[in-house]
Amino acid sequence: MGPDGIPLDHGRALRLVPPSLRRAVEVRDGGCVFTGCGAPTWWCDVHHLLEWANGGETSLANSALLCERHHTKVHHGFRVERQPDGQWHTWSPDGTRIYTGPSGTGPSGTEPGGTGPPRGNGLGGTGPALTTAA
Ligand SMILES: [Zn+2]
Repeated sequence: MGPDGIPLDHGRALRLVPPSLRRAVEVRDGGCVFTGCGAPTWWCDVHHLLEWANGGETSLANSALLCERHHTKVHHGFRVERQPDGQWHTWSPDGTRIYTGPSGTGPSGTEPGGTGPPRGNGLGGTGPALTTAA
């Protein structure tokens, strides 16, 4: 039920997302749910996780907020799914999970120190410096 007592689960009665449901999805998702995106709600469409044509319902549980770009991706093989803890997970068409969030979980940046000897070995500055200018 919505805040005004408006039912948010329209089942198969409605194909288009009514404004009350859209508001509920915006409040829940806060923006595009595609991993690493974060586009604001006003760039987003309400996506049917299970296509309406395939029996999906017009309900909050079957809805995801996706920006135009990622809405297109999800219709071309990418997949988003809401976990029981409320987190959205994203998979690419080959089934691998996408982790490209802002926190960066890749292996880069973990090398201890740089390559080669450290620069500046303490021998500089013993001779006459460039004091012959002018
Ligand atoms: Zn997006």
